[in-house]
Order: sequence, then structure tokens, then C-alpha cells
Amino acid sequence: MARPKGKTPSLLAISTGTPEHHTCGKATPCTRCEEIVVKGQRCFKVPKIKSGFTRHPIFCVACTIAILEQTKIELLVVEKDVRFNG
Ligand SMILES: [Zn+2]
Repeated sequence: MARPKGKTPSLLAISTGTPEHHTCGKATPCTRCEEIVVKGQRCFKVPKIKSGFTRHPIFCVACTIAILEQTKIELLVVEKDVRFNG
């Protein structure tokens, strides 16, 4: 995996749905690390609404895992807030 720049996005921050399993029909760069996901390789589409349109940027498996990890971290923060700071 190429070194991604910037903060790892989380599903809470960027997504409006569940990552969807996807197999690339053609070589497509990963949205996060820009590594090329070659045709037939497994990747994930993450639904994202931008200016009213739903887009489905694709992420390589390694980046999808990083996004999930980041999501768990942010979710814990939200959960703590909801449960204990009321
Ligand atoms: Zn990637």
C-alpha cells in the first residue's frame, strides 16, 4: 500500500452507508492511498453524498480496514458522549 496522505477518514465522517464489496472492472486508483486496484481485484465502494449526488469512491482492502478502525475509534467517542455525558 502506498502511503496515504492526511487523516484516515471514518465512515462516520465520509459515508452515508455501508461499504459494499466490489470487484473492479478496470484498474482504478484507491481514493485514499492512490494505489491502483487492478481489474478483478477486491476493493470496496463507500457511498458518499457530495452536493446532493451519491458517489461511490473505491478503496483498496488495506484502506477499508484503516477506515473501519478509524470508525470504531470515533464511534467509541460518540458512544461515551451519549451514554455518560447526558
Ligand atoms: Zn488504498
